[in-house]
Amino acid sequence: MIYLDHAATTPVPREVADAMYAVLTEQFGNPSSQYQLGMDMKKQVEDWRRTVAGALGCDARELFFTSCGTEGDNWAVTAACWQNRHLGRHIVTTAVEHNAVLEACKWLEKQDYEVTYLVPDANGGISAEKVLSAVRPDTALVSIMMVNNELGNVYPIADIARGLAAKNPRTLLHTDAVQGFLKVPFTAKSLGADFITISGHKVGGPKGVGALYIGPRVRNPRPLLPGGGQEAGLRSGTEATAQIVGFAKAVELRMDHLPEKLAHMAAVKAHAVETLSAIPDLMIVGGGTAPHILSVSLVGWPSQNIVTDLSAQGICVSAGSACHQGKASHVVAALKLPKKAAGGVIRLSFGPETTEADIDACAEALKKHHDTRMPML
Ligand code: PLP
Repeated sequence: MIYLDHAATTPVPREVADAMYAVLTEQFGNPSSQYQLGMDMKKQVEDWRRTVAGALGCDARELFFTSCGTEGDNWAVTAACWQNRHLGRHIVTTAVEHNAVLEACKWLEKQDYEVTYLVPDANGGISAEKVLSAVRPDTALVSIMMVNNELGNVYPIADIARGLAAKNPRTLLHTDAVQGFLKVPFTAKSLGADFITISGHKVGGPKGVGALYIGPRVRNPRPLLPGGGQEAGLRSGTEATAQIVGFAKAVELRMDHLPEKLAHMAAVKAHAVETLSAIPDLMIVGGGTAPHILSVSLVGWPSQNIVTDLSAQGICVSAGSACHQGKASHVVAALKLPKKAAGGVIRLSFGPETTEADIDACAEALKKHHDTRMPML
């Protein structure tokens, strides 16, 4: 199998699975239990928190484990609006966020919030100036993703944070960094966002675990799950110890020689741009500079057919984001591409394991698809 869909999810390395297995079978204690097995687990969870927080560049006390990136996004959006409920009911976000942010915003619209959805330029870019010019005195929250999951565009979060501090310091800033974490270099401290969402399964961890950074400007954050008081009383529920150790182990493995891994992914992407550009009717979509995501369109050939054809040959790519489940992508729609180009968009995404030979096999299959299938769009 040739797996070119690392932005959808990533394979779990053996060491991660082994660490999870040990926690499931031997170190299975509940961190809230008062005997040694439980107390050991409590200590371990804090060690694992320190590992993930270290990679994010924040204090462990600022990092809260969640069940996924979607949960972190929802928590951040609602907690920011809760803190700023007396400031106003306006939110600035983009039309190309993940649905986890978009649907949370739509829910808030039903609670009388007004949401400005910024539309990117034709390359998928959104400037800090564009974001800041949409901010008003009553803007409670600005939520802008760090890396677009379909295009790979990197948005200027640190510039937005600086601009917000000058223009409207009470407005809180959230960034969905699910595709940015361990892909583009940043630290929570240097970024200046108040909330940062990350997810385990995009970096070699298991599905079902993520984390939310909550910075010092968020006073008394609104608890997501009131209950037994875990996660400093903000997100109750017995800690998912196996998922958490898997997340921490994956982060530890990714952090090892990370610059080399990122350089490798960037080289694979550059090779993909060069190789795929030679295919007739193929165009590069968006101006993504993240090392692991590349969108292309086989203009005139429906993306769903390409995905199915490549899948039959053991090659996994996606038609836009996996979360769309076959529906037209709102990200591609926001680019306002001509119909034939929009209909042919597929996303390739890479991990440290991806090789140039994988790209060559994919290019060959795409070329064959182009040469042997009728264009239908
Ligand atoms: N945000 C972005 C940018 C994503 O790419 C994804 C997953 O694809 C999510 C949020 C959701 O993360 P999770 O699958 O952990 O809920």
